[in-house]
Amino acid sequence: MTMATLGLNLALFLAALAFMEGFAWVMHRYVMHGWGWVWHRSHHEPRAGRFELNDLFAVVFAAPAIVAIYFGVHGVPWLLPVGLGITAYGAIYFMFHDGMVHQRFKVPLGKSRYWKQLIQAHRIHHAVHTKDGAVSFGFLLARPVRELKAKLRARGVDA
Ligand SMILES: [Zn+2]
Ligand SMILES: [Zn+2]
Repeated sequence: MTMATLGLNLALFLAALAFMEGFAWVMHRYVMHGWGWVWHRSHHEPRAGRFELNDLFAVVFAAPAIVAIYFGVHGVPWLLPVGLGITAYGAIYFMFHDGMVHQRFKVPLGKSRYWKQLIQAHRIHHAVHTKDGAVSFGFLLARPVRELKAKLRARGVDA
């Protein structure tokens, strides 16, 4: 691999990773809190067992990564860093969302301002238990906590 291809692959990897946060925001805002609420609802209610219906989204979102990696290895090389970028996003999302925020498994808590703010922002997302009226749909990027709380207060929700 030349330096140029290495650089291009790295750029594709990072672009896919960054794109996924935007994609996740749109999915969460419009699909999961839209017609996908039948699955996502389980994530806004106390969990009864080890799994929740919402976990099925992870399976669905893994599919494009698997397809990209497959074709990346079989003849379409630029799809490999894209597939790996999507996978990396999934891994970071899983550590952060399911580990740090919801503590479904033990993971060291992020101590920096960045992580603390993100954890709080996602907790604020969970202050609303209904399909409509929630705030903060991002995962690795979020609006300032104070702003989110003010938005909720304006909607009559205590956070
Ligand atoms: Zn939600
Ligand atoms: Zn959550």
